[in-house]
Amino acid sequence: MSGPYTQPLVYFFGQGRAEGTAAMKDVLGGKGAGLAEMTTIGIPVPPGFTIASTMCLHYLETQQLPKRLQAQVEAALHRIEAATSKHFGDGANPLLVSVRSGAAVSMPGMMETILNLGLNDVTVEGLARQSRNPQFAWDSYRRFVQMYGTVVFDLPKKPFDDLLEERRERHGVERDIDLPLDELRAVVREFKARVRTDAGRDFPDEPLDQLWGAIAAVFESWNTRRAIDYRKLHDIPDAMGTAVNVVAMVYGNLGEDSGTGVAFTRDPSTGEACLYGEYLLNAQGEDVVSGSRTPLPISTLKSRLPAAYNELQRVSRILERHFRDVQDMEFTIERGTLYMLQTRRGQRSGHAAVRIACEMVDEGVISQEEAVARIPPNDLNQLLHPMIDPHSHLDLLTAGLPASPGAACGTVVFDADRAEQLGRNGQAVILVRRETSPEDFHGMVVAKAVLTARGGMTSHAAVVARGMGKPCIAGATALHVDEEARSFTVDGRRIAEGDWITVDGSSGRVFAGQTALIAPALSGNFLRLMQWADRIRQLRVRVNADTPADAHRGRDFGAEGIGLCRTEHMFFEGDRLSAMREMIVARDAAGRQRALAKLLPIQRTDFEAIFRAMEGHPVTIRLLDPPLHEFLPKERAEVDALAKEMGIPADELQRIVDQLQEVNPMLGLRGCRLGILYPEITAMQARAIFEAACTIAERKGSVLPEVMIPLTATVVEFRRQVAVVREVAEAVFAERAIKVPYLLGTMIELPRAAVTADELAREAQFFSFGTNDLTQTTWGISRDDAAKFLPQYLEQGIIEADPFEVLDQAGVGRLVRMATELGRRSRPDLKLGICGEHGGEPATIGFCDHLGMNYVSCSPFRVPIARLAAAQATLAARGTMDRTRATV
Ligand code: ADP
Ligand code: MG
Ligand code: MG
Repeated sequence: MSGPYTQPLVYFFGQGRAEGTAAMKDVLGGKGAGLAEMTTIGIPVPPGFTIASTMCLHYLETQQLPKRLQAQVEAALHRIEAATSKHFGDGANPLLVSVRSGAAVSMPGMMETILNLGLNDVTVEGLARQSRNPQFAWDSYRRFVQMYGTVVFDLPKKPFDDLLEERRERHGVERDIDLPLDELRAVVREFKARVRTDAGRDFPDEPLDQLWGAIAAVFESWNTRRAIDYRKLHDIPDAMGTAVNVVAMVYGNLGEDSGTGVAFTRDPSTGEACLYGEYLLNAQGEDVVSGSRTPLPISTLKSRLPAAYNELQRVSRILERHFRDVQDMEFTIERGTLYMLQTRRGQRSGHAAVRIACEMVDEGVISQEEAVARIPPNDLNQLLHPMIDPHSHLDLLTAGLPASPGAACGTVVFDADRAEQLGRNGQAVILVRRETSPEDFHGMVVAKAVLTARGGMTSHAAVVARGMGKPCIAGATALHVDEEARSFTVDGRRIAEGDWITVDGSSGRVFAGQTALIAPALSGNFLRLMQWADRIRQLRVRVNADTPADAHRGRDFGAEGIGLCRTEHMFFEGDRLSAMREMIVARDAAGRQRALAKLLPIQRTDFEAIFRAMEGHPVTIRLLDPPLHEFLPKERAEVDALAKEMGIPADELQRIVDQLQEVNPMLGLRGCRLGILYPEITAMQARAIFEAACTIAERKGSVLPEVMIPLTATVVEFRRQVAVVREVAEAVFAERAIKVPYLLGTMIELPRAAVTADELAREAQFFSFGTNDLTQTTWGISRDDAAKFLPQYLEQGIIEADPFEVLDQAGVGRLVRMATELGRRSRPDLKLGICGEHGGEPATIGFCDHLGMNYVSCSPFRVPIARLAAAQATLAARGTMDRTRATV
């Protein structure tokens, strides 16, 4: 016979043998699979059995449990009895069990575990006699009735807790178990009476009725609101169902030689290879996590119960070796004997993840590939930014969105000019605004961090701060910012200009005062891990860098070139901005030339420094891209002031500002359209690039500029702009009597460019996918306005992820794929890369690897993340990831 009906419904484990294995998570759930595997490898686990998760849906659909299940459960119960020499419902030597939920993926909202099931007025006396500890027996009974009442009968918890608290106070004891015996008996009676009145049913005294009631309750809990929502959010199939574990009780509440606790095989925050955890003596189950008593650090168990401690250490080592990863374990000590009740993969911080992976390689437990495969790339974030010293004392003010990671301290300032003024003097400032706009840019440049009351993860503040690798907290809605009064209030506290605050952009929390920070460094284990990743990966990783400082930072983090150097960012500050403005307001080409002549040496110097920082690695320079109005003020008062400064009539300047105003600047006069209208801008930039390149080459340095035309829609635009660049290049080479190799290519950021990529590639030597704009233009969504509706779209499930954070592979990605294929058809050696913010996002990196791109480019702080993600993409393509892929 074959088919589903011959599959066992119940899997026994006990006495060193188990019917299930660790590989059977789908059937047994994570908890059941772990218990079975531990039993098989000789770890002390109390005997028990697991009911297959397939029963869950069967029960939910039919509200019945098959006869076959009843028979198998009773048979398994007899096997537990045989293994423990105790009997379920027996008045002399009763077997008690726990009933525990557990699906293949752990999830909130599932039924809480019921302990001590099998107790009634008869068996409790047996337990009391047998243990010679009536206090313990009645404490266990009290727990059981309380748990069963609140969990199976779904009664509110508070009345039970209140009643206990009142008794403890009356008797002046801290623990329930220390109540006088008569009082414990009275509590049980009252609890049962409460169940009768509130649930309208008698408390079940028959142990088998108790058991089936609890099993059904576990299945029912699969469909609690919380569980359903969680599954939806995490794409967990509803059809999976939960298993039920029934496990013989072991007692941690039998006295001061007993206890219960949780432990990690290594420290989950530092990764240090030592037992880490907490326990309580004379306690049961949830006491450790419930917060009702303060647990003790595991190290103190060594002196209290040395034998149990040593055994725990031995078990910990075995489990870690066996599962080849850090384990998070639950245990109980019954009169000095250790029992394990759960083991699972231990969650860990980014710091711990790196240290543990490297040390496990050193210990010969895992390979270098596995170490690389198992660390979620984004976890490296924690290692790449300053963080708050975990020992510091913190005074929490409020929390907002963790918009850009890292911690910083500074005095608060409320406008960009003030920030610039103080920042230039070397003062640490944090720019606090209701929200930011492009006019705040110069303040953000000098600020240590940015904090805004409004805006989301893709607000101006968030995007710019991430680009600069600066901490940012956005949408801290509890903050009332009064920019005029130069202060903010939060929860009745007032913080004024000059006051210190500390922000943690990784968690979104804002603290009052100054705090010790720990600086990031790519060294030690982190460095080793990166080197292993580099040996594996195929994709090159470049950095998006607009300044020599960013270029150096990118190199420090291992970037192999610059994928995007946005030249306009060189014009946003000080003298440069003045020259730029002069160019914009020039009345004719000659005036423009004069202004451009001032910009030329500035750009040339920047390029020289950037080329030098990149030590011969390729540098992709994008020609001027943003709409010109971004360089001019908006407010009339500012226009007047600027006009005075520039010595031109205010009305004339206002007219220029008005002329440049666009209804939709994203789709207006920008990108190569600027260079088409003002070819002298393109020519000046090209001259700066090639003069700088020649200077490096003359000094025997190696240099590889890649000039990139932005926002190309048609090959004709590209051709025109390239002609200007070539002409300048040839002229400079002739003047300097030296030649440097260079490439000419385009950004692909408009759908038209993507669908005519074959034509473009006939003339362009490289494509760089500007996926920020390509996402905007493909979706027809302006990123600056998206905050009005994207959150709703996410909430209503219209889209699964913010397409500005995670590349929309089905839409935007399809254009990218098409352009890749069309482009390579025209030019097989076409160089392909991505330079949008997506270039640092692990899933997108996998996609780029799959398309056979040459490189990804991202902000400096994401370079190590990209190196790791690129290596994982290679491993995934080789098929070696599945077994070892990090499970979170
Ligand atoms: P959760 O998934 O919430 O951790 P568990 O069933 O693992 O639920 O455990 C709840 C608590 O009860 C844990 O502390 C666990 O160790 C304890 N526990 C579970 N079963 C038993 C048992 N048979 N004997 C003693 N303690 C148990
Ligand atoms: Mg548990
Ligand atoms: Mg663009």
